[in-house]
Amino acid sequence: MMQVPFYNFTRLHNQEFHDEVLKRFSQIIKENSFSNPDAHYNKLFEQEFAEMQKAKHCILVANGTDALELSLEVLGVGAGDKVGIPGITFYATAEAVLNRGAIPVVIDVDPKTGLISTKSLTKMLKQTNLKAIIPVHIYGMPAPIEELECICRERGIAIVEDGAQAHGTILANGQPVGSTSNLTTFSFYPTKNIGAFGDAGAILTQDDNIAKKIISLRNHGRSASGIEFFGRNSRCDHLQAAVIHLKLQYFSEQSRRRQEVAASYIRGFKSQDITDITMPAENFLNNSSWHLFPILVKNKETKLHLKKFLEQGGISTSLFYERSMLEEKPLKDIMGENTHAGLFAERVLCLPIHPCLQEEELQSVITNVKDFFKL
Ligand SMILES: *Cc1c(COP(=O)(O)O)cnc(C)c1O
Repeated sequence: MMQVPFYNFTRLHNQEFHDEVLKRFSQIIKENSFSNPDAHYNKLFEQEFAEMQKAKHCILVANGTDALELSLEVLGVGAGDKVGIPGITFYATAEAVLNRGAIPVVIDVDPKTGLISTKSLTKMLKQTNLKAIIPVHIYGMPAPIEELECICRERGIAIVEDGAQAHGTILANGQPVGSTSNLTTFSFYPTKNIGAFGDAGAILTQDDNIAKKIISLRNHGRSASGIEFFGRNSRCDHLQAAVIHLKLQYFSEQSRRRQEVAASYIRGFKSQDITDITMPAENFLNNSSWHLFPILVKNKETKLHLKKFLEQGGISTSLFYERSMLEEKPLKDIMGENTHAGLFAERVLCLPIHPCLQEEELQSVITNVKDFFKL
């Protein structure tokens, strides 16, 4: 039986890639240039990634969670401040708020997409003030940034965009994530669309002063004249920068393949008119980074049966996300709205989508899903 893993790092890091990485590592070892934030590949990556996402500055940091935390810090979000986060996201979005000593407030999501709901945000703002919100470009789909800006600008609420899953995602205005006047964060965790051999993250901004401050904060609050701020160590090391910089060279080709896979799934399930499945991202075919391919089924029971059925057919799927934010233990007692997020988490299952997924693997997934629904 064919095995279809959820990720395939063996194929992703093929011999050509492997050889080039070793060449870079060898060079770094000879240069003894391990953790200088201004090292060769750090600088190159920052320049090229900023250009790709249309930001003035890219600042590499240690991981995506730190990127969120440092963004909140530089915007002055601290103890007791309330920060809106969507009910569907990876827990790190909430964790960054908590680590600032701030209080997350959970905003409900659009029932079809799982993206933060502007309606729920407006409703929440009648009950409480927020210092900032963190819309998440979840699964790689673009959050409705322009609408959120309309709501937040007049009230002086800051926006930090969590783009951890959104490398190359295009916003509704046709511009890439990272091109807005908001701070935008990225993660280069190994499973992300650009993945390091460990941890790395980045913050994008158009603002010179904010960039300067983050550059200092990530490196113990240092400036040219000594320690200037109460900082921390959140540097990205040179080896990681060398890996993610190399991955930039393959990025557009790999994104195209992700999009082809998504198009095949959408065609495969649509043509069969499987009314038991809805595909949250189907209207974002050309805009999503296709980090994940989520589908929604009728209820939790169907989801777990389908997962098991696919497993028996050799196909790995993932429960991103099994619980909405208000259902996570550390967040149980916080303020928020969970109507749609709760249902979404019960119904969502992610099918394998990665740039190395082969045609027969893709067809095996489609066939098995159809078999499950007896089509
Ligand atoms: C991966 C991820 C993060 C955290 O990134 P790390 O690099 O693992 O710290 C934050 N938010 C979202 C939505 C993510 O998917």
